[in-house]
Amino acid sequence: MEIAIVGAGIGGLTLAAGLSSDGHDVTVFERAGDLGEVGAGIQLSPNGTRVLLGLGLDAGLRTIGTAAQRSVFRRWNDDREIAASKLGEIAESRWGAPFYSVYRPDIIQLLSSACGQVDFFFDAQVVSVAEVGDQVAVQLTESDEHLFDLVVGADGIHSAVRSSLWGAQPARFSGVVAYRALVPFEFASDLPVDFTVRLGPGGHVVSYFIGKDQRYLNLVALADDRSWELESWTEPVAASVLQEQFSAWSPTVRRLLGAVEDSVFRWALYDREPLPTWGKGRVTLLGDACHPMVPFMAQGACQAIEDADVLRRCLARQGTIVDALQRYEEARRDRTALVQTMSMANATTFHLPDGDLQRERDEFLNLVAKTGPGLAANFDWLYNPRDDLNA
Ligand SMILES: Cc1cc2nc3c(=O)[nH]c(=O)nc-3n(C[C@H](O)[C@H](O)[C@H](O)COP(=O)(O)OP(=O)(O)OC[C@H]3O[C@@H](n4cnc5c(N)ncnc54)[C@H](O)[C@@H]3O)c2cc1C
Repeated sequence: MEIAIVGAGIGGLTLAAGLSSDGHDVTVFERAGDLGEVGAGIQLSPNGTRVLLGLGLDAGLRTIGTAAQRSVFRRWNDDREIAASKLGEIAESRWGAPFYSVYRPDIIQLLSSACGQVDFFFDAQVVSVAEVGDQVAVQLTESDEHLFDLVVGADGIHSAVRSSLWGAQPARFSGVVAYRALVPFEFASDLPVDFTVRLGPGGHVVSYFIGKDQRYLNLVALADDRSWELESWTEPVAASVLQEQFSAWSPTVRRLLGAVEDSVFRWALYDREPLPTWGKGRVTLLGDACHPMVPFMAQGACQAIEDADVLRRCLARQGTIVDALQRYEEARRDRTALVQTMSMANATTFHLPDGDLQRERDEFLNLVAKTGPGLAANFDWLYNPRDDLNA
């Protein structure tokens, strides 16, 4: 089949790699001038890495990934451990695939290395898509139109493909602002190789090492803040703004925030309600284009990777394109809607002010961590292998 993918993010590239290795003729339209991602970290849980291993990227992943040893919740003001569970050594035995933290540009680079046969068009902003008989026209400018057997919109939260199908609708501001910053290893070398979430009133701070030899500690500091609504990964802000916002937090947090490299970037977080129907006919959506979520479960990219895997397998089965896209959507809709909803709920749970509810939350986390397999068991439904097509 001649297949167009709109968007060369993590979702679009995973799909491009899979479909081209199945022998399809794949074209990717990307509005940016080249392949790239913002210089921040991302966690790839076993439900995502399993698919990447299937694309033959195991050696590459091992090279670019850091495997955190534990997942730890700490208190915001004194770093006291609320609950912890083993991660690195149990990920493969419990869920059958590794759990890695990576530098975003590295994972894009790795995925693109699996896209050898794919045709890339850069500086190619898709304006709209429309079915024309049994093909789909991808419109770049008025005079620049390309025809395909099917089109997948993997063009992010403000997807033009989604707007073509369902009309343009504004995304929903979550009321939470994220600051992202990288701390060079030498300023964090005394810290354990943990994935750490510090929970505090009106905010939380996530930290984990990324890259080869744990080159950086990736910091994402999140704060309830309705006064800033600009959604841009590249909006620099003085480090002092971030330091001021978290000035009452623990000495470790303050030390790390004092050591951030270069600029700090600020990003207002948006999501959308689950979409009742994703595609129409020979056009479908994938990743943030159909289920954008706030990052409080670290699942947006992993769900996009899962989408790519299921869509690829649906297209490999007997049947028409329209049936395959329908099966894909039915297999994915409920699961992604659940993850979207749970992610947003975490904003409330993570940002509780100190008091009765916060103590109940912490006691619950601690109890779960100490019982049986601990916190890890809470993630079995998310990380374990599943057969979406028969789900
Ligand atoms: C602070 C933060 C932390 C996060 N941490 C994690 C994490 O740890 N783990 C995780 O799994 N997820 C995480 N996420 C979520 C994750 O980043 C996204 O869900 C994921 O990147 C979505 O991938 P995508 O390919 O669907 O879309 P995108 O990455 O948005 O890619 C869309 C691509 O389409 C292109 N494009 C857009 N419009 C057009 C057009 N009209 N024509 C052509 N090209 C177009 C864009 O330039 C872009 O390259 C986090 C998000 C945030 C904000």
